[in-house]
Amino acid sequence: MEELFSIHYAEVGLKGKNRIFFEKRLAKNIKIALRGTGYAEVERLHDRILVHLGQHANVADVRQCLRQVMGIAHFELSCRTEADITSIKAAALQQLQGCSCESLKVETKRADKTFPLTSPQVSAEVGGYLIKETGARADMHNPDVICWVKITHNAAYISTEKNQGIGGLPVGVSGKVLVMLSGGIDSPVAAWQMIKRGAKAVFIHFYSYPYTDKASLEKVIEIAEVLAVSNYRSAIYLVPFADLQQTIVAATPAPFRVLLYRRMMTRIAQRVAASVAAEALVTGESLAQVASQTLTNLRTIEAIAEIPILRPLIGEDKAEIIQKAQRIGTYDVSTRPHQDCCSLFVPKHPATRASLAALEDAESGLDVDALVENALNNLEKTVVG
Ligand code: ATP
Ligand code: MG
Repeated sequence: MEELFSIHYAEVGLKGKNRIFFEKRLAKNIKIALRGTGYAEVERLHDRILVHLGQHANVADVRQCLRQVMGIAHFELSCRTEADITSIKAAALQQLQGCSCESLKVETKRADKTFPLTSPQVSAEVGGYLIKETGARADMHNPDVICWVKITHNAAYISTEKNQGIGGLPVGVSGKVLVMLSGGIDSPVAAWQMIKRGAKAVFIHFYSYPYTDKASLEKVIEIAEVLAVSNYRSAIYLVPFADLQQTIVAATPAPFRVLLYRRMMTRIAQRVAASVAAEALVTGESLAQVASQTLTNLRTIEAIAEIPILRPLIGEDKAEIIQKAQRIGTYDVSTRPHQDCCSLFVPKHPATRASLAALEDAESGLDVDALVENALNNLEKTVVG
């Protein structure tokens, strides 16, 4: 009899080679997530992943870490035993030890149809035994505890808990994206949504030191560290943007500045994306949330993009984004005061409908290529996670 965690993933659409790739990545990510919990081993079976606990594991820590691993549908602390009814009964009783339930129910699933008893027979037999031994009563509708019995061809798993996993796909199975990370509330949530769909996030942040303070930089790194709970080890590229902004301010009309900043950021970001093999940029933009995010303006940013710009929050309300940020754990860091470089030297009423021609005209006095090269020459890389 061994106590272990039994981990299940959503199987929709996962077949053949894809499935092996998915499972291997999930097992690898679980190992990374469980570092420091004292677990003994992660084992891949054909329908589940097992975490063997050994003697030194902290069960509560393991449970807490598993809740955050992308790609897990549900998981439970189980007792694994031989697939015979006597062992199953003993294991079920052991699982109930220490929990003072007044009513219970046993639910059985057989993956092995050659097992001598049917599922209802196993439930009745194990249920009867537990009632006799614990004094609890049977309750099929609203029991205090459900005891799940799963019988496979070479083992039985008994558990009295079912933990909801976070869902999504294992980080890494969907390729890599470069997230344009500001210190605000939105872009960390956008990053998290992509990570949840299995993308590995690498980050880029533009800062305007000395016009903005160093604390803003630390804040963005801290946000990337919070995301590392599910994204694991990654990198953030820090790009000094002040000189470039000065150039834009000196040479272009004020209402266009935010859009010109954003077009320059995008140009620089896609060069960095190419260098790290990221296939898309990700932003925290949400339709019409601010002047630079009207459809017309998004289009003028998009116009210079050579790779997809993904905007996972495009249809979300601010209130929904805030709720997600709170759940993810980035909200408290994001709401600490800071100044984003996009808010520097911009008028109260930026253009909400700038035409592409007008922006191109405004840019015609700039040496765009040289500005991009200069920014790339000065960026710094910091490892997070
Ligand atoms: P956020 O809450 O993410 O800061 P926002 O609502 O403040 O977004 P904007 O300032 O218009 O909106 O920025 C839109 C998006 O542009 C951000 O979500 C982010 O992806 C990107 N962005 C803005 N400023 C920066 C920056 N300094 N560095 C990197 N990306 C940025
Ligand atoms: Mg912002």
